[in-house]
Amino acid sequence: MHKNFKNIDKVVFGAGALDQLDHILSEKRNENDMFMVFIVDNYFKNKPLADRIPNHDQDMVFFEDIDQHEPTTEQIDRLRDTILEEKGIPSGIIGIGGGSIMDVAKALSLMVTNEGSSSLYQGLNLVKKPGVYHLGVPTTSGTGAECSMTAVLTGPVKKLGLKCDWTVFNQVILDPDLTMTVPRNQWFYTGMDCFIHCIESESGIFYNEFSRAYGDQALKLCREVFLGPDSGQTPINNEKLMIASLFGGLSLTYSEVGACHAFSYGLSFVFGMRHGIANCIAFNHLKEFYGDAVDEFKEMVDFHQIDIPQNLSSGWSDQEISKMADVAYNLSHMWTHALGHDWGEKLSKKDLMDIYRRM
Ligand code: NAD
Ligand code: ZN
Repeated sequence: MHKNFKNIDKVVFGAGALDQLDHILSEKRNENDMFMVFIVDNYFKNKPLADRIPNHDQDMVFFEDIDQHEPTTEQIDRLRDTILEEKGIPSGIIGIGGGSIMDVAKALSLMVTNEGSSSLYQGLNLVKKPGVYHLGVPTTSGTGAECSMTAVLTGPVKKLGLKCDWTVFNQVILDPDLTMTVPRNQWFYTGMDCFIHCIESESGIFYNEFSRAYGDQALKLCREVFLGPDSGQTPINNEKLMIASLFGGLSLTYSEVGACHAFSYGLSFVFGMRHGIANCIAFNHLKEFYGDAVDEFKEMVDFHQIDIPQNLSSGWSDQEISKMADVAYNLSHMWTHALGHDWGEKLSKKDLMDIYRRM
């Protein structure tokens, strides 16, 4: 069976596009209990962007701090309960922030109409009812969360997305100016998420011409942004990386991520490490999986003098390494893509533990 992917309904792209948000929302404001919910990265509190949020009197604005941890099921349940108790079912949910905030907005849009804890819905097609209208405004570039069908949450037992057609945003506003303030390390780590999505998408059995068309273009843009003569955080590069992120997300959606994301999920689950940096820590040691792409990654690291933590494993216990290997080993769809349907014969949990010990 070939994938039957639900894409974003509408996309606006261009510098200053955020100013179209009020107009876009105007035709949705009569739905449900007639108010909008804005979920905004706490970084923007008291920053100029906060004054550009087009909230009306009846709307709710939450500045969410995602610096202590990536989005959790507990955080979604708490926000959902507050919204339903105070105002009812919103007309729409708008997420303004990086991958974390976009995932909060996506998950919340589903959880205002589905009962119980969001942890019940971590997995594929477990959500029972469609959510409400939701719109994403990325302020980082690289995750592909703007177009993916998953809202990644860390729950009591696993880090796994709420994954279904209803998760995909109805509308996305891609305004590259909003990424100008991303700190340099974060810009690199999140940008590498995109580079790694494309490399992994290309290196496995689910790869196809659809993925290739998007992935090749995204890689070309990543190379211009991170290695070209005009490399760096410039307005034109911010445009390029924002489109690379979208295309990288589309590439992996029609294919799959692989070994690096499996290792990365282990690191995030056990140590709460952020997705972008966790990917970089893992990718640095995956030459047997991704060959020249790892050398290219190291070239980009050197070029931008980015610090990728090394020798971390000296501080890890056997129990922690074993737990990470369990988390990674359970991501069978990623290993199937990376190594084939008989991956279980090629790779053992011990192999994964050995690779973690290199990090
Ligand atoms: P993030 O959203 O976690 O944000 C990282 C940091 O950047 C935070 O401190 C945030 O406050 C700050 N920040 C965001 N925008 C900024 C701006 N414009 N200026 C200054 N600071 C800014 O980082 P991310 O790498 O974009 O996202 C990672 C998250 O995305 C993880 O939670 C991961 O699980 C998720 N993710 C989801 C998908 C998906 O398909 N749904 C894919 C990949 C990653
Ligand atoms: Zn990723």
